[in-house]
Amino acid sequence: MNPVILRYEGTRPPLREFGILIPTARNRPQQILGALRADPMLGARADWLIGPDGSTVGRADLERVHDPAYVERLFGDGLEAVLLSVYELIDEHGAHHRYDPAIATRPLSGMFDGTLHGLAGTLQCGTEALRRGFCFYLGGGSHHAHYAFGHGFCVVNDSVIAIRRLQHDGEIRSAWIIDVDAHKGDGTAALTLGDESIITMSVHMAHGWPLDLPEHDADGQPHPSQVPSDIDVPIAAGEEGSYVPRLADALEQLGRYPRPDIAYVLAGADPYEHDELPSTRDLRLSLDQLYERDLRIHRFLRRLSVPQAWLMAGGYGERAWEPYPPFLAHALLHRS
Ligand SMILES: [Zn+2]
Repeated sequence: MNPVILRYEGTRPPLREFGILIPTARNRPQQILGALRADPMLGARADWLIGPDGSTVGRADLERVHDPAYVERLFGDGLEAVLLSVYELIDEHGAHHRYDPAIATRPLSGMFDGTLHGLAGTLQCGTEALRRGFCFYLGGGSHHAHYAFGHGFCVVNDSVIAIRRLQHDGEIRSAWIIDVDAHKGDGTAALTLGDESIITMSVHMAHGWPLDLPEHDADGQPHPSQVPSDIDVPIAAGEEGSYVPRLADALEQLGRYPRPDIAYVLAGADPYEHDELPSTRDLRLSLDQLYERDLRIHRFLRRLSVPQAWLMAGGYGERAWEPYPPFLAHALLHRS
């Protein structure tokens, strides 16, 4: 079985169609696939791209990870309020913030249908990885969703939902989540705290969102975004030169944990120096550094024979597709 890219259509309609004015890439999957088809080796083959296999993720899968009361809101009348909050579309004065319902061509609630469809892709990415050794899903990576709320554009936590489903189905017992998105995988860390079957590692901007959230929430409880991952690697502004060596050290540390049955990798493009989301400007990796990042993780997992389920995760603006094709060409041409 060969390594593959998995594409689901319609999981992420442009936010603008919902009236949301956040600079997402126009169509990252299309741009990535276009670049790969132009590769002389890959362009001649058609066996590296697959689509949905009919997998579905439902309410019971969400309830295995999230607060049942929160899940009830998502499936009931509370959905629109959740989405306004998760996408930060209301400011502190109650006014619309980067949100203009007048330009919307789809209802806001329709976003959740795309989310559920997209969750099935994260699950299928895992089952394909188990069979093939490597699968890269052109979606997924909603690592900011917590037990009882979502934030940072993440409604529910897809990698944890997929892993708990695979565990429930008896496909796997243990997993690693390697998160190299620019933002800390705060929801993932909090959701898996104390769960020794899921080991988390996050390499992220040392400062800024979500680490600049208050240490305590309104009830005086520790804010769950401050929960540490099993391994955290905070990179401060100007430390880009030490990014790859520190990633290598962290992988070595991760390798001391028992070998898992699968690894999910959140390969966000938002550490890229040309990312357009203002909150990522403290981390500015070059294309070469991002390629090295992904190669190191890929080689590390291959050496341990750990099946690899990669998710696209964050990436904003016109150039957010650029970091992926070089690594994917490499991964697709090297059988596991
Ligand atoms: Zn991010």
